Amino acid sequence: MATSILSDANRRLERALKYVSISDDASERLRYPKASLTVSIPVRMDDGTLKVFQGYRVRYDDTRGPTKGGIRFHPDVTLDEVQSLAFWMTFKCAALNLPLGGAKGGVTVNPKELSKFELERLSRGYIDAIANFIGPDVDVPAPDVYTNPMIMGWMMDQYSIICRKLSPAVITGKPLSMGGSQGRDTATGTGAFYVLQALMGRFNKAPHQTTVAVQGFGNAGSVIARLLFDAGYQVVAVSDSQGGIYAAQGLDIPSIQQFKASTRSLKAVYCEGTVCNVINDHTDITNEELLSLDVDILVPAALENQITATNADTIRARYIFEVANGPITSEADDILNAKGIYIFPDILVNAGGVTVSYFEWVQNRSGLYWSLEDVNARLKTMIVTEAERIWAIAQELAIPPRTAAYVHALERLGDALNDKGTRDYYVSGI
Ligand code: NAD
Repeated sequence: MATSILSDANRRLERALKYVSISDDASERLRYPKASLTVSIPVRMDDGTLKVFQGYRVRYDDTRGPTKGGIRFHPDVTLDEVQSLAFWMTFKCAALNLPLGGAKGGVTVNPKELSKFELERLSRGYIDAIANFIGPDVDVPAPDVYTNPMIMGWMMDQYSIICRKLSPAVITGKPLSMGGSQGRDTATGTGAFYVLQALMGRFNKAPHQTTVAVQGFGNAGSVIARLLFDAGYQVVAVSDSQGGIYAAQGLDIPSIQQFKASTRSLKAVYCEGTVCNVINDHTDITNEELLSLDVDILVPAALENQITATNADTIRARYIFEVANGPITSEADDILNAKGIYIFPDILVNAGGVTVSYFEWVQNRSGLYWSLEDVNARLKTMIVTEAERIWAIAQELAIPPRTAAYVHALERLGDALNDKGTRDYYVSGI
């Protein structure tokens, strides 16, 4: 049987625990999710038949605040995956010093096979099934893979119907017209770009001398690809679920964004239309080939478990910035670390999404809304501060940046858990 993703995630926790002095009580608590809910969602399909989908919501730890985490619609969603994603959210919120815990949700479905009506009924049905498990002060969902602002809007509306009052703060990533925040749609890629710029500044490499490959050209991947392109980096390869494209001289990312938006597939980018004339000498590549390109920076921005013990040896990038959650297994980590590759971890690099989700929640609760400039300025300050702190811990303890990020988060989580009382407190009080 394949290794559980949660036990693999827990291995990272064990590594970091060696460098932090938190109580045994706190570390024991962090090994298990607080609550996991599995639901069946009956959906009336357009042809009149009834189909039942499996859904999940996991609240991993709420010691530092209401739990927070996205909802994924994907055929491979399992409880194990959702628990792991909730685990990562717990550490991500602590690493960014957000007053939130970690959660995640998902439905096992291929949303591309549903009509818009069926997708709306499924989204509302999911909320009907989990309504007692979430709430603005309890657990606040958000978008993730294959969910978007419109779906968040339906979900907020459904929760408000159930509660008989408008509850914008129950979910983030909503459309602007329904209480969404400026900058939420681009936050993950933008935050990752701020982290990349801040950390690459330590390696004395000018953007125009730096080549980048981005796996996954969705919400997060396309935004960071565009920001890197605008900043002068040579983005030489991008890919999506159907395959990738490569050009040694660099790709024209704005044209690709435009074509992807109109065709929904990178495959079509170079086959028709004027962009064929804009960029020459491109090659079709597979996702596997993209991962092993000889580039300076690799940005996995698709799904988890893309770099494993099987292909880690083929990786030639010098720096990896994990925009996806969990794209590298812990076994692969060891191989890449031994090769001297710097891996900047998901719980830091992609934390821009949850940070601006937090801003959205704050704005919904206060009723005062911020400008895009304000959102991005606050995001930059917060994420760069934590990136620099994590880099400093990595240097001080001579550990990989991933372990340093866990150490940083664990110190905050440990303090919060310890302040509720530990064995030492109770035993010494006898
Ligand atoms: P998305 O659905 O917008 O994009 C996913 C992209 O990955 C698509 O281009 C898809 O075609 C591609 N893809 C799917 N399978 C692939 C494969 N096997 N190989 C290559 N590409 C493949 O999703 P997103 O929101 O951009 O999320 C991407 C990753 O970033 C996920 O791991 C997600 O958990 C993480 N993330 C997203 C956010 C956010 O705010 N969107 C926040 C934090 C983390």
